Amino acid sequence: MTYDLIIIGGGPAGAAAAVYAARKRLKTLMLVHEWGGQSVVSEQIYNWIGTPAISGSELAENLKKHALVNAAGAVGSEGAPGASGMASTLEVKDGEKVTNISGETNNFEVRTESGDKFETKTILISSGSGRRKLDVKGADRLEHKGVTYCASCDGPLFADMDVVVIGGGNAGFETAAQLLAYCKSVTMLHRSDTFRADEITVEKVLKNPKMKAIKNVEILEVKGDKFVDGIVYKEKGGEEVELKVSGIFVEIGQIPNTAFVKDVAPLDKYNRIKIDPMTQKTPTEGIWAAGDCTDVLYHQNNIAAGDAVRAIEDIYLAIHTK
Ligand SMILES: Cc1cc2nc3c(=O)[nH]c(=O)nc-3n(C[C@H](O)[C@H](O)[C@H](O)COP(=O)(O)OP(=O)(O)OC[C@H]3O[C@@H](n4cnc5c(N)ncnc54)[C@H](O)[C@@H]3O)c2cc1C
Repeated sequence: MTYDLIIIGGGPAGAAAAVYAARKRLKTLMLVHEWGGQSVVSEQIYNWIGTPAISGSELAENLKKHALVNAAGAVGSEGAPGASGMASTLEVKDGEKVTNISGETNNFEVRTESGDKFETKTILISSGSGRRKLDVKGADRLEHKGVTYCASCDGPLFADMDVVVIGGGNAGFETAAQLLAYCKSVTMLHRSDTFRADEITVEKVLKNPKMKAIKNVEILEVKGDKFVDGIVYKEKGGEEVELKVSGIFVEIGQIPNTAFVKDVAPLDKYNRIKIDPMTQKTPTEGIWAAGDCTDVLYHQNNIAAGDAVRAIEDIYLAIHTK
């Protein structure tokens, strides 16, 4: 069987796309590696419009629920699954990681890690992005032994200890804010001379007496035998410094999840999928992309969801006006 559309990803972009595709009755398959997307690790999200505050895990659960309600049966005006009496055109498979796309418009084949393959006329890629790894001596060896990429998951293990956060963007400051609740001290090491985070967050975090931030820093080495016991860095024009810490929280940016895309659609120098922002179309006919895996300037939950909706509108027109 050939689907009208395969949606890849189950973050805000993928979930929004699934809801719209189901309501437009496109014969759709949604392939999700893990539900919820990147902000699943956030303690609180305050800018998901219509919801003043929600935890990342609850947002993830809601996105999943909204897609699955639509997969269970078309949602009618009462808002209940199956209320319209029509069978759903949306199928959802989770735990499915896409590894390869081949073919051409109206005749694509999408393969997953589990060995499954699916045929489709069109594809929407909404695979988001993952963490950039710290690339210095010792960081790889001591990952999960003091070097960590998730404050919500690992932060409490470092209660009453001295820790470092690497990175001065929103994710870095959010991580620091979480750690300040239980760590003895938090030192932020940031490579440039300006922070790339919302001013209100920066101000609030830096006011905490347990917090210290050092700018213009180059990280040189993570120290430790079985577990992290220090970090070596150098300030611009300064000497090497070894700071004794037990935990290193890395927040130095994202890498788009686009390895499986490179043979079918052009990527920019950061490996983001090139799109036309009017339509979300990639230069490859039949493939659209939305959210953090694309080369748009700003990356937020609301933007990802909105971009995906724009893509579905365009995919619907492409399928029905051909
Ligand atoms: C710590 C942190 C806090 C944040 N806080 C906020 C905030 O407060 N407010 C805000 O608006 N934004 C926030 N963001 C940004 C926001 O999370 C992203 O902009 C948003 O998640 C992007 O959505 P997306 O759907 O494009 O991608 P993602 O959320 O990255 O979702 C990608 C989806 O694709 C799946 N996937 C990946 N590869 C494959 C594959 N090969 N096959 C199948 N599925 C695949 C993933 O499992 C996931 O389901 C935060 C980001 C981080 C890292």
